[in-house]
Amino acid sequence: MVQKNLIDGEWIAGSEAFRNINPSDTNDVVGEYARASAEDARAAIAAAKAAFPAWSRSGILERHAILRKTADEILARKDELGKLLSREEGKTLAEGIGETVRAGQIFDFFAGECLRLAGEVLPSARPNIGVEITREPIGVVGIITPWNFPIAIPAWKIAPALCYGNTVVFKPAELVPGSSWAIVDILHRAGLPKGVLNLVMGKGSVVGQAMLDSPDIHAITFTGSTGTGKRVALASVEHNRKYQLEMGGKNPFVVLDDADLKVAVEAAVNSAFFSTGQRCTASSRLIVTEGIHDRFVAAMGERMKGLVIDDALKAGTQIGPVVDESQLNQDTDYIAIGRQEGAKLAFGGELLKRDTPGFYLQPTLFTEATNAMRISREEIFGPVASVIRVKDYDEALIVANDTPFGLSSGIATTSLKHATHFKRNADAGMVMVNLPTAGVDFHVPFGGRKGSSHGSREQGRYAAEFYTTVKTAYTLA
Ligand code: ADP
Repeated sequence: MVQKNLIDGEWIAGSEAFRNINPSDTNDVVGEYARASAEDARAAIAAAKAAFPAWSRSGILERHAILRKTADEILARKDELGKLLSREEGKTLAEGIGETVRAGQIFDFFAGECLRLAGEVLPSARPNIGVEITREPIGVVGIITPWNFPIAIPAWKIAPALCYGNTVVFKPAELVPGSSWAIVDILHRAGLPKGVLNLVMGKGSVVGQAMLDSPDIHAITFTGSTGTGKRVALASVEHNRKYQLEMGGKNPFVVLDDADLKVAVEAAVNSAFFSTGQRCTASSRLIVTEGIHDRFVAAMGERMKGLVIDDALKAGTQIGPVVDESQLNQDTDYIAIGRQEGAKLAFGGELLKRDTPGFYLQPTLFTEATNAMRISREEIFGPVASVIRVKDYDEALIVANDTPFGLSSGIATTSLKHATHFKRNADAGMVMVNLPTAGVDFHVPFGGRKGSSHGSREQGRYAAEFYTTVKTAYTLA
């Protein structure tokens, strides 16, 4: 059965379909999904536009009930949805279920936020005049998401968009339509009026581009590559629309001489290799001071030897496959580049064979890398990290900040002085002390600086900044 797109409250088949393939076993077809056309995208935008006046004035209890019901169903079905997610994306079952729970928590959080909408009442600078400051929805929000968090990223964009009274046109990544289809189905059955949320699965160059080119989309929130982010930005300037971008990272993880070695190695392995290194918050630059360098590298090697790389759905698997062939080629190209640049391939780097045909790659660690190498400057988006040796904390901080990106930044240290200094001086949106650079909470701001992000923060109460526009009203008493 082909899973359809949702346009104006109707499930629409369209003329084409595409297959969702399991990267752990390429013989396994997860499902077939209707491929939307540019025309479908325009119909979805028109439906969202028509639905906006009523939804923007809907009662907070209606919105609360729909988001709450959605949260409850996602949480009740966490094992099944988590399995679907692991099957289509390749992260382990535990990671898939964890991400699904997080999506449920996000809907729960924004169900609560509907009940806390508030403004301000102030005296005017002039006598006998009152001033009210309120937040209003923006209009039609375009949501474009990547493949690496198939349910959490759609959740953290759709939930606040609906909570604050916007209507939505949602285009998920083509590699992982299953999780997106599932949450749209849940929201639809939870009682969203027609046209409030529209799903258009399909190609970025067709469906995504039709969204960028539409004057009727008032805001676009995008997570994906730097190149596409730039297109979103340019098109949004053209249409004078609000936009928010979450793009790449080249996140540093600093290890100081005084670090607890075990804590440092666990955090580094998690940051670099869990979720197959396919997280924008993954750390691919391990910046290590001289005194601990050799012990750290040896301990990483030991720890990496024990990692279980296999089918994402198998019990005991710690690292699943790479998401698809083109990403695998990108990873192996960068491994070749690292060698050519003179970094030492210390561990891993081999393709692996398992019981089923899949995109299995050994986690890979380079040593003797410099921060000027391409493997230290460009986002690889795979289980590939390099160790950069530095003299001391001061040099570590300089190297950590010397990158075009600025999403997350971590440090392993037992020194309060260095931890405090690093928190203040890391040029990143998120800082982690003795924790992996990836793995963030659902109720606090998420986002970065420099080439990683543009616009206001996602998640938590800070999401209101993007999904609303402020009105200041004056009344003569
Ligand atoms: P990734 O490397 O994560 O696939 P992309 O930026 O290519 O990064 O994809 C992120 C999202 O952007 C996907 O949903 C993709 O389909 C969409 N996309 C790709 N090209 C365009 C485009 N020209 N216009 C709008 N969206 C696009």
